Amino acid sequence: MYIGHFALGFAAKKVAPKASLGTLFLATQFIDLLWPLLILLGWERVLIEPGNTVVTPLNFTHYPISHGFLSVLIWGAAVGGIYGALKKDLKTSLWLGLLVVGHWILDLISHRPDLPLLPGLEAKVGLGLWNSLIGTLVVEGGLFVIGVYLYASSTQAKNKTGLWALVGLVAFLILTYAGNLIGPPPRSVEPIAYIGLLQWLLVAWAYWIDHNRKVN
Ligand SMILES: [Zn+2]
Repeated sequence: MYIGHFALGFAAKKVAPKASLGTLFLATQFIDLLWPLLILLGWERVLIEPGNTVVTPLNFTHYPISHGFLSVLIWGAAVGGIYGALKKDLKTSLWLGLLVVGHWILDLISHRPDLPLLPGLEAKVGLGLWNSLIGTLVVEGGLFVIGVYLYASSTQAKNKTGLWALVGLVAFLILTYAGNLIGPPPRSVEPIAYIGLLQWLLVAWAYWIDHNRKVN
C-alpha cells in the first residue's frame, strides 16, 4: 500500500486531533520510513522481480526489523511511548502506537505472504490483495477518499496555505501513486531506497499543512 497508509494518517486526525498531521504520518508510515535506511545499511533486503504481484515489482525477501510483527509491536510502543513522555497525552500516544501497527495490518492485507511474524519463525503472512489491480485500487482508493474527507472535515484552513498545501499534497500522492502503478520497474535497489527516504519530506509537508489549519 502507498496512499492507503497516508489515508490512515489523515483519518486519525478525527480521533487524535491534538496530534499534528505530520506526527500522524510519521506514525502511520514509521516502518516504511525506517525500511529504506535498513536497505541502505544492508540489514534488510529486497529484490526487483517484475510480476511478483501485479501491483509491485518488489519482492520483499528479508525485512524482519522494519516489518516483522513482533518488531512492529515494539516500534508502536516506542513511537507511542516517546510521544506520551514528551506531551503527557495518553490518548493520543495510544492512537499513535495503533497507527504504527495499523500500517502492518494494511501491509498484511496487500502483500503476498512475505511478512515475518517472530524471529526464528519461518512462517510468513500476507493476504495478497496486490494480486488484483482492481481490488487494490478499490480498497486503497476508497481508504484514501475516506481519510482525506475525515481530515478535511475535522479541520479548517487558517489561511490560503492551509487549503492549497493540503490540495497539493493530495494531488502529489495521487500522481506518484499512479506513476508507481504505470511506470517501468526500477532498475536497481538503491534508487528505491533513496526515493523511500524522500517520504520524510511528506512528513514535513504534513506538519506544514497542519500548522496552517485548525481543528473544528
Ligand atoms: Zn510497509
